[in-house]
Amino acid sequence: MSMTLTVGVLALQGAFLEHLILLKRAASHLQSHGVTTSFEFTEVRNVEQLSRCDALIIPGGESTTISLVAAESGLLEPLRDFVKVDRKPTWGTCAGLILLSEAANAIKKGGQDLIGGLDVRVNRNHFGRQVESFQADLDLPFLKSEESVSHEPFPGVFIRAPVVEKILPNVEGVQKGEQQMAQTVVAPSKSARDNHARQAMSSHVDVMGVLPGRLKKANAMGAEVNAGEEVGDIIAVKQGNVFGTSFHPELTADIRIHVWWLKQVLAAVGRTSVTKSE
Ligand code: GLN
Repeated sequence: MSMTLTVGVLALQGAFLEHLILLKRAASHLQSHGVTTSFEFTEVRNVEQLSRCDALIIPGGESTTISLVAAESGLLEPLRDFVKVDRKPTWGTCAGLILLSEAANAIKKGGQDLIGGLDVRVNRNHFGRQVESFQADLDLPFLKSEESVSHEPFPGVFIRAPVVEKILPNVEGVQKGEQQMAQTVVAPSKSARDNHARQAMSSHVDVMGVLPGRLKKANAMGAEVNAGEEVGDIIAVKQGNVFGTSFHPELTADIRIHVWWLKQVLAAVGRTSVTKSE
């Protein structure tokens, strides 16, 4: 008897094929390093496909489009349940991070529905427009465990990328303070199944990666700033089962984050002892 895990990639719009390619490579890597679990990777476009998944990736793309199509496909509430009530491992990249945030700004009220799951506020398009896209070497401490693959800095690809501009307090129900802000939308956590979403969410947000260098750059350009105060932009966070990155590992050939995340999925499934046999 061997276990098979089904990992879905939300395939409504955006870079889902790229994620599937890296997931397959990451799974082969794990299997050549002694992992006996087999993985099935699948595109998710409807509720039935989502219900078969043990874990999910929400890719980069255009968060407004993904959320509109998800709403039309009747997927928004099932996605909220998947993330916040069933607490299945979910990873969002770029647009996916926006959708997994409890609050996002630079959005017209009513302009976009969020899934939520991460008690953070993201600033959409933080770095500007498409032409201001860039690549930066990232030092991601959680990738230390993947040094057998490489110990180079991780190539961070940022395309109209959001940043986490605030870690939000752990509150009952919806993030009310955020709801009152102009151009900010919040995830309607209260409507998730049985109103248990908030109680089920982990209360702690871990900062998993920052992009340093903004103050250093300002210094180099002659500004009088104290680089000692540099904290950097938060570009990766994790709250319990939910993981989000501002950048696009799926647009690189580097499998490390996919390997790390599949290990997280394996550990989470082991903890909840969801076993499937074939
Ligand atoms: N800023 C985009 C949005 O709002 C996300 C960009 C991306 O995923 N590359 O959806």
